[in-house]
Amino acid sequence: MRLSRYFLPVLKETPAEAQIVSHRYMLRAGMIKQASAGIYSWLPLGYRVLRKIEEIIHEEQARAGHIPMLMPTIQSSDLWQESGRYDAYGPEMLRIRDRHDRDMLFTPTAEELITDIFRSHVSSYKDLPLTLYQIQWKFRDEIRPRFGVMRGREFYMKDGYNFDLTKEDALHAYNRHLVSYLRTYERMGLQAIPMRADSGPIGGDDTHEFLVLAETGESEVFYDSEITELTFGNREIDYDSHEQCRAVLEEFTSRYARTDETHDEALFDQVPEDRRRTARGIEVGQIFYFGTKYSDAMGATVSDREGNQVPVHMGSHGIGVSRLLGAIIEASHDDKGIIWPEGVTPFHCGIVNLKAGDAEADKACEAIYAALRAIGLDPLYDDTEERAGAKFATMDLIGLPWRITVGPRGLKNGVVELTSRRTGESEELPPEEAVQRIA
Ligand code: ATP
Ligand code: MG
Ligand code: MG
Ligand code: MG
Repeated sequence: MRLSRYFLPVLKETPAEAQIVSHRYMLRAGMIKQASAGIYSWLPLGYRVLRKIEEIIHEEQARAGHIPMLMPTIQSSDLWQESGRYDAYGPEMLRIRDRHDRDMLFTPTAEELITDIFRSHVSSYKDLPLTLYQIQWKFRDEIRPRFGVMRGREFYMKDGYNFDLTKEDALHAYNRHLVSYLRTYERMGLQAIPMRADSGPIGGDDTHEFLVLAETGESEVFYDSEITELTFGNREIDYDSHEQCRAVLEEFTSRYARTDETHDEALFDQVPEDRRRTARGIEVGQIFYFGTKYSDAMGATVSDREGNQVPVHMGSHGIGVSRLLGAIIEASHDDKGIIWPEGVTPFHCGIVNLKAGDAEADKACEAIYAALRAIGLDPLYDDTEERAGAKFATMDLIGLPWRITVGPRGLKNGVVELTSRRTGESEELPPEEAVQRIA
């Protein structure tokens, strides 16, 4: 992408309404624009990151054997009457009446709709196990939308639903989700710690939230510091193996780690004092096993091996896709701007032409641009006539992992400058080598 033809409305001033760094940088970097309270337009740069995050989620869901689909944002109230949640959900649910006076709503989550799809089409244990998911906009009329995309009213969520014959199979689905979420967050450069949590309006007993530690997080968390030493990494795992998935769950949840809702002082006191931590965290996902809560209420049954009709065991599993942008920035930035982890960066590399219009400099930039694209990378080429200082400030703000700076003086010696956004270190080297280094 050439900056002269892109739409990157960078702000010079720090917007007064933004209280936390991720919100400030997302506004300043021209990633989002508020449309109304808690509702945002995703400008091209923000949209690119959103898509990257979405792609990682799809890839990891596919790896775990889960099937993507899409359900509508506007639903009829009927199914919610059946489950009993229409009244229970309260004022967070945005209720709409259509021209025929029918009660509709903007989906805050989709247990009812997916259960209805399931009961319409699945009737035998032979079609189980089944896990369906979508990535779709949700709406919750949050009493205090704030911190930009962190607590929006409209937000983008991955929501998955498992259907299993037995509790044991459903708990395997739960564990499988835990494993796939660990991988998912790590690919985004995040450490998200599974913590025992409260199930809220979704219901059920077994539930873990995934929390990214950050001072600006809205949840208070208590944990054994040993847990922060765990990483899933590049392990091979057989997602069909109950034992392997259970072993990962045990490894990642056996140490004390809870949110304030389930915090237990007496248990926490058993953690050695030097390892006890109280901190704040951002909830970036949650997994639930809630058994037959919805299948009982809505008559989602299958015939088992003996021919009996039994309600299916279910769970649901969410990732806060749009919130993740904020969480990643909270976890990875400095005073100049964002520092994108490689896995989610909107562009892989910035190219700064120090003298746009100079024949040699233009030619060298074009060659680097073409070489990066040829190896499948997405560069952002600043070919504008801004002064160098402003170009650097923009590149630092938008946080691409690499910058290649090209100017007539370096070119005389056959070199360009390669700078790492994370370390700030620069190196002079021939253009081809700079390209190789990024690849
Ligand atoms: P919170 O405790 O922050 O209100 P929640 O527990 O109500 O979140 P879930 O029902 O577990 O949310 O939804 C799954 C995920 O969707 C959450 O883990 C979170 O990352 C994201 N999410 C929930 N509410 C919002 C929101 N208002 N804005 C952005 N993301 C959200
Ligand atoms: Mg909530
Ligand atoms: Mg919560
Ligand atoms: Mg939650």
